[in-house]
Amino acid sequence: MEDGKVASPPGAEGGEEEDDFGYRLFPDRKKEPQSFLVRSLFTFHNRCQVMLRMTLETNPYAQLLIAAMKQSGCTVFNDRHFSCENCDGCVSGGFDSATSQIVLCQNNIRHQSHMNRVVAHELIHAFDHCRAHVDWFKNVKHLACSEIRAANLSGDCTLMNEIARFKFGLKGHHQTCVRDRAIRSILAVRKVSRETAEKAVDEVFDACFNDLEPFGRIPHSKTDAKRAYKDFLNRDRYTANL
Ligand SMILES: [Zn+2]
Repeated sequence: MEDGKVASPPGAEGGEEEDDFGYRLFPDRKKEPQSFLVRSLFTFHNRCQVMLRMTLETNPYAQLLIAAMKQSGCTVFNDRHFSCENCDGCVSGGFDSATSQIVLCQNNIRHQSHMNRVVAHELIHAFDHCRAHVDWFKNVKHLACSEIRAANLSGDCTLMNEIARFKFGLKGHHQTCVRDRAIRSILAVRKVSRETAEKAVDEVFDACFNDLEPFGRIPHSKTDAKRAYKDFLNRDRYTANL
């Protein structure tokens, strides 16, 4: 597997800077019984679960996505749909469509802000899986579309965007970041050429970049996400009262 190539070394994160292009849709999950080493990593597991709970209780990106999934008939249960596991290489997380589970790589997620972004990113894949008949394996355009949406809406590009604005005032940086991340994510989970990944992303880019469901806007910050969550709840209330 090419895990090591696409993500930062686990020890490299200096807080916010860590590069987590290694989001994988279908991580290679270990099927063997837990070894002594794995059991001794209990503290990783514990820390992962505490951070996950914090994300689910307080992060507006996650709260909105979970509310939207519930509305679409896909209720998310914390114990059933999230799994803290050790992952090979430097992968941060993944969505396992076979079990509808979000895998969180407890050995590589060390900060709450990182957990927030991984959970939001993977929940967007779960949301797409719930609302659409996504052909994750055979249709690379479907995968490309979900990766574009995940990069656009999860906050993955927010920090880089801020840095770019501060340093260069680059216009269109957000789009460039989303395109780049989507391509890298595809290359991390599929054995396709860079040209194939780029072609798939470019073909669906406009349609999928402009599909802002369930946020209704690009949430550039937690404040944006909070507003989107409020609007979503009100939209819900409004239709309920009709
Ligand atoms: Zn992804």
